[in-house]
Formats: sequence, structure tokens, C-alpha cells
Amino acid sequence: MSDFILSPGLSFTGPEVETDQDIIVIGGGPAGLTAALYAARASTDPLVLIGETVGGQAATSAAIENYPGFPEGVGGAALAQEMQSHAERFGARFLFQSAIGVDFHAYPFRIRARSKQYTAKAAIVSTGSSPRHLGVPGEREHIGHGVSYCATCDGYFFKDKPVVVVGGGNSAIDESLFMTRLVSGITIVHRRDQLRADPILQERAFDNPKISFLWDTVVEEILGQDEVSAVRIRNVKTGEIATLETAGVFIYIGHTPNTKLFEGQLELDEAGYIVTDRRQHTSVPGVFAAGDVQDPIFRQIVTAAGTGSAAAIEAVRFLEEQKYKEKSDE
Ligand code: NAP
Repeated sequence: MSDFILSPGLSFTGPEVETDQDIIVIGGGPAGLTAALYAARASTDPLVLIGETVGGQAATSAAIENYPGFPEGVGGAALAQEMQSHAERFGARFLFQSAIGVDFHAYPFRIRARSKQYTAKAAIVSTGSSPRHLGVPGEREHIGHGVSYCATCDGYFFKDKPVVVVGGGNSAIDESLFMTRLVSGITIVHRRDQLRADPILQERAFDNPKISFLWDTVVEEILGQDEVSAVRIRNVKTGEIATLETAGVFIYIGHTPNTKLFEGQLELDEAGYIVTDRRQHTSVPGVFAAGDVQDPIFRQIVTAAGTGSAAAIEAVRFLEEQKYKEKSDE
């Protein structure tokens, strides 16, 4: 009996071909790409279900300055492509499709992509996380029409126009600094009177004449007909409400782990992150998780890559144990 959970809105339409795999990596961000490299170098020919594009969240970063080995910084998309080539060189195979269903109760595990169904002896989940939405009126309607979650991708459309950035973490500040080259001015709207971002980024933002701050303030509504024209804001200390004209709203208020597919299959914590032990094992023996999908704390490219390598090392070890068990059962 099939026990697949399909992602909402997706259905399985391709030919049902079973293909046996040693290791399937689900997700193609830095964690998945590093897991693929390590698994490939252990001669397991891993198959990576990469999703639509390589690199995950990291690929949307214009400049990464804290990944070791790149003193001048490196573009996120370029780094992801190098990681993919590196894994491919050792035999990793990449499929530009997302996993749309998994059955980790069966063994070998069953994993569905849109065009094929696979069985795998071990799986590494590295599906990352997605930007959180504000959930205010006007947000959903204006996505792609002034509301964005990626300045690197969309900043260009706001050339010489004023924009609002919501949030006070590294992403909000990093992406604001990137946009100063393009837009006429940036107002960072933050719900507290202190940023969460690293001091070096804070310093750069405070020194930049194009960036100003609205402290203790939240966006309550995004306004505009077809395109965004303004935001309605509220000072949380005084209760004062105001309207701020803007052409764009860039939202950086954290992330939600991409774990819908694994509900009922793997143990998740109360925030939806996959629970792993120190060796990247999940609640199901043979299924490992790496990167942001299991990390609510560090969420760095280098930590994602680190857990990706650990997950692959453990997956290869698991395969060896299985082989040994099979032999001693004969
Ligand atoms: P984050 O660090 O969780 O920051 C989210 C920000 O949004 C916080 O300032 C938070 O306010 C605010 N916020 C949360 N919910 C909100 C809401 N409903 N309304 C208004 N504001 C809200 O997220 P992030 O900036 O995306 O960073 C995620 C991780 O990636 C972090 O570990 C970060 O270090 C890492 N990262 C690193 C770099 C880098 O090293 N260059 C770049 C980007 C991201 P409070 O401060 O009040 O909680």
C-alpha cells in the first residue's frame, strides 16, 4: 500500500518507474550540494533532487563575505554552481525536480519526483527554509508587484525609487546594503529599537546615507492599486499610525523550514524543524537531515555545508552497516 504524502497542489503525473538508489539527497542548497560531494566521493553515485534551481536561499545572496576561502566575497549563485560542479566531478547526479512525496515508513525508502518514483537505501533531507511572510493585508496581492523577499533578485526593478525593508536581522541589513547601489533611499522598519544583525553590518548600515531607520515600528498594511504605493505603519510604543510612500517592500523577518512533505514521516519540533541528533540522524534510521531544515540557530552557509558533509558520512556508514547485516543474514 502506498503511504505517500504529496505536497499540497502537486500530483504525480509521470510514468511510475522504480529506480533503486543508494543515497537520494532531497534539496540542492549548500547542505545538499556538500552532502552530494561527500556521498559521491564515497562512490555511492548519489542522486540529488535539486528542486527548480541550484543553491537554495544562498543563491539569492549577491555577495557572501563569510564563506571561508573567498577573502573578496563570492556571489551566492556562483558559489552554488561551483559546489554543483564539484559534486558532479565525483559522480553526483542532479535532477532539476522537487521531491513531491516520500514514504519513509517503507524500506527501502520511497521518494517521488514529478517524473519518476525512486527507492533509496538512505536519504538526506536538505530542503532548507523559505522566507516568512508578514501576513498583513496587501502583502499577498502585491507579491511581484512591489512586495519581494529577495533584493538580489528584484532590487533592480526599483532603480532610483524609494523602498522599505522590514526586519532587523542579517538578511535585512545585508540586502539593504546591496540595494543602496540601486534605489534612491531605504527605510528600514524594525519592530524594536535595536538590530539583531551582526555589529559589522550594523555599522555599515548606520554609516550609509541612503539608509534610514524607523524604530519600534511595524507594517500593518501594504497599500496600492496594481503596484505598491505606500505602507501603513504603527509605532508600537506610541500607537501612532502613519502612511509612508514607497515603491517597494522587501520583507526579511526570518524563515520557515520546508518540512511540509515530512509531516507524519519524521519527527519535527514545535517550529517545524526536523529533529536531528549530533550526527544528523533523524527519527528514522537511514534518513539524515542537514542545513536550515534542521537548524533554527546558526543558519550559515558554512554550517549548512558542515552538516551536509556529516549527514553524508553517516549515510555512507549506514549503507555499510546494512550491507554487513544483509551478508550476516544470508
Ligand atoms: P533573523 O536573524 O531571524 O531576523 C529576523 C528579523 O525579523 C529580526 O530582526 C526580527 O525582529 C524580525 N521579525 C521577525 N518576525 C517579525 C514580524 N512578524 N514582524 C516584524 N519583524 C519581525 O532572520 P534573517 O535575518 O533572515 O537571518 C536568518 C539567519 O541567516 C541568521 O542566522 C543570520 O545570521 C543568517 N544570515 C547571515 C548573513 C550573513 O552572515 N551575512 C546574511 C543573511 C542571513 P527581532 O529582532 O525583534 O526578533
